[in-house]
Amino acid sequence: MNMKKIYEIYGSDAHEMTLALLRAANIKDIIPAGASVALKPNLVVAAHPEDGATTHPGVLSGCIEYLQDAGFADIIVMEGSWVGDRTDRAMKTAGYDEVCRHYHVPFYDLKKEKTRTVETPLRPMEITCRALDTAFLIDLPVLKGHCQTMMTCALKNLKGCLPDREKRRFHADGLIRPIAALACALRPSLVIVDSICGDLNFEEGGNPVHTNRMLLGTDPVQIDAYGCSLMGLQLEDVPYIRLAEQWGAGSTVIRPDDIITLNEPTAAECYPAPSGLVRQLTRDVRADRACSACYAALVRGLYQAREEGTAVRDKLVIGQGWRGQTPDALGIGNCCSGAARCVKGCPPTAADVLNALREL
Ligand code: SF4
Repeated sequence: MNMKKIYEIYGSDAHEMTLALLRAANIKDIIPAGASVALKPNLVVAAHPEDGATTHPGVLSGCIEYLQDAGFADIIVMEGSWVGDRTDRAMKTAGYDEVCRHYHVPFYDLKKEKTRTVETPLRPMEITCRALDTAFLIDLPVLKGHCQTMMTCALKNLKGCLPDREKRRFHADGLIRPIAALACALRPSLVIVDSICGDLNFEEGGNPVHTNRMLLGTDPVQIDAYGCSLMGLQLEDVPYIRLAEQWGAGSTVIRPDDIITLNEPTAAECYPAPSGLVRQLTRDVRADRACSACYAALVRGLYQAREEGTAVRDKLVIGQGWRGQTPDALGIGNCCSGAARCVKGCPPTAADVLNALREL
């Protein structure tokens, strides 16, 4: 594993993508022999992963298969859903019971676990012992929007390792500072991000945007900083990331060669029919064989533009079908480089799309 690198892969098969990421980064070499390994997915609510809220079960099965093949036997899955839902219900809805049964791996509901109080830069915090005591914690978040913190990914996913009473305290404390403080007390050794179809703005899902992408890295702060740019957000929009950096939990620095891309995005011949908010945002977009990652960057850029009151009047084109054409429009991605103006990238980031929309 190249430390401080982020591995990125495109596709829609979470199991195979997870295996490919772990193999490319040669993760088995950074896990101490015989270490206990805990997988912490996002099961915030009882929702199918295609709704854009919860980690796909293929991410779990990919991790477990890789670890077992590498000789690691002490593997568990653990999570505690948000205060309003039951973890066992969420676990079954997401299909984790089948994965755990198949690989003979136990699942622990962290709402029912013993806790210990540990010091953090903010205040003493109550965290489950099972999360604190694991030797190698693997954080498996979904990259998605959040109605209060704008974005949730690696750092905020660790909130599931708290008892419900501590989760409530987090909200009373305004979320930002507690999330950053938790990052100092509970640092995952590895983060694998499910960005296959995260919701645009709600952690409980409902408006999934298919990005068909996954990420792997060892620094949760760096991963969240990268997630910010993928969602068209600035670090200032998600203040707990910089605060976590200031408190020593990681670094927001991302150099161009820190991103190792394992494959190219492929054209989604049939981009999943957008519903609700996504359909509204893209009603004037002329898409022709757009890859999911490209389309997601556009949707997120359009969403941010609407949130800040930027009116989008120009025509927008996107997709491989526009290669070699010269439309009088703003083209999204390298395939549309013949357009009057173009947001470069394959795919571009939502932040670049947003900047181009502002210039319009
Ligand atoms: S620029 Fe073209 S090939 Fe690249 S992600 Fe966008 S649509 Fe796909």
